[in-house]
This record gives sequence, structure tokens and C-alpha cells, in this order.
Amino acid sequence: MNPSRIAERLAQVKQRIAAAARSCDRDPNAVRLIAVSKTRPVSDILEAHAAGQHAFGENYLQDALPKIEALQEYPLEWHFIGRIQSNKTRDIASHFHWVHTLSSAKHARRLSDQRPVELAPLQVCIQVNISGEASKSGTTPEAAGALAEVIAGLPRLALRGLMTMPPADSTEAQQRQIFSALRHLLEDLNRTGLSMDSLSMGMSNDMQAAICEGATMVRIGTAIFGPRQ
Ligand SMILES: *Cc1c(COP(=O)(O)O)cnc(C)c1O
Repeated sequence: MNPSRIAERLAQVKQRIAAAARSCDRDPNAVRLIAVSKTRPVSDILEAHAAGQHAFGENYLQDALPKIEALQEYPLEWHFIGRIQSNKTRDIASHFHWVHTLSSAKHARRLSDQRPVELAPLQVCIQVNISGEASKSGTTPEAAGALAEVIAGLPRLALRGLMTMPPADSTEAQQRQIFSALRHLLEDLNRTGLSMDSLSMGMSNDMQAAICEGATMVRIGTAIFGPRQ
């Protein structure tokens, strides 16, 4: 996309986040923006970085690794937000700072075992399938507690919170319901002795609802970089 458009759209997204936060009495600074750069070229990421963006989200490992490599010299923070496959955990563990889509104990153990010793623990969120859609990955809400216990016991992972996505066709009321359920799940789990501080929820089309239900990280692609091909 035209470079100046990225800076402009990024500024608009930050304004939307701030307005949403204020509309429900939240501190705009309590919501971090993850710019979802999946399928976008390195030049788009550099434009966003030049406009002050630090954290980027990627879904597809084959697409992400060459970009991460090419941008090594920049102080960027990489968030893995795609489906995890067992044969890809080593690359995820060595190239990313955060994983938002952890939903199995097996993957958690592999990521912890494979996290390079010279790096800080991998920051993770558990993906929860609140809506129960068959096509969605994520644990059930009922299974999230047991998985959280496993993760909390792994030395090279830092359990930070929960992530979810509402069905693509949901109304704003349905989005609110799903995001609210995720927040309540986090509060319930924290009462059992965990100390999660992150709710990864909100994309281009549902950030308002997510922010009002307590999102601490929103993952925004289209609104910053334009429609994907
Ligand atoms: C693609 C994607 C996003 C960004 O979606 P937009 O609608 O482009 O903002 C956020 N989270 C996940 C998990 C995604 O796959």
C-alpha cells in the first residue's frame, strides 16, 4: 500500500482505540495495538514501524520467517497468532516473543522445551473457543483451567492470558457476549491462584466491543494495511 496511507490509517486506528476506551471509561494506554502483518511485505511493516508501531502479528510461519529475518535489526516484537502445528513449534519458539493461539498441553511442552535458553520466556495466551464453532481452534472454556495449570508449571513459558475470536458473522451484541465470557473466564481462573494480565481480543471489525469488555491487546490487520488479497 502507498506508504503515507499506512501511517495515516495507523493513526486512525489509534484514535479509534482511544475513543472506544474512553467511551467505556477505560484508559486508552491499557490497550496495546498488535499490527497484523500477515501476507504483507516487509516494506509495509517498515512503514508502520517508521510511524511508531512496535508489535506485529503473523499467522503463517513460512510467510513470517523471511520477514522476521529481514527485519532482525529493528527492535520489533513478533506475535504468533496462527494455528500451531507440532512440526513448527521449534521455529515459533525461536523467532517469536508471544504466542496467542496455544490450545494444547503437547504444544505447550514442546514450545517450552524448544525455547532457546538465551531468550526470555515465551509469553503465551491460551486460545479459547468460546462460541463453540466447529471450525475454530482453541480449548473449550471447561478445559482452559487444566491447560493453564500445565503452562504455569513450564519453565520457559510465561502464561499471560487468554485469546478468542467471535464468529465472523456475529452481531455486536454477540461479540460483546463472547468477549465478556472470556473476561469472566480469566477472572475465574485468576481466583484459583493464576495471575494472568492479558486479554487478546478485538480485530478490525470488533475492536469497539472487545475494548469495552476489557481487551488489553487488539490484533488489527485490515484497518491498518487495507484489504488482504
Ligand atoms: C487476520 C487476523 C487478525 C486481523 O484481522 P483483521 O480483520 O484484518 O483486523 C487478528 N487475529 C487473528 C488471529 C487473525 O488471523
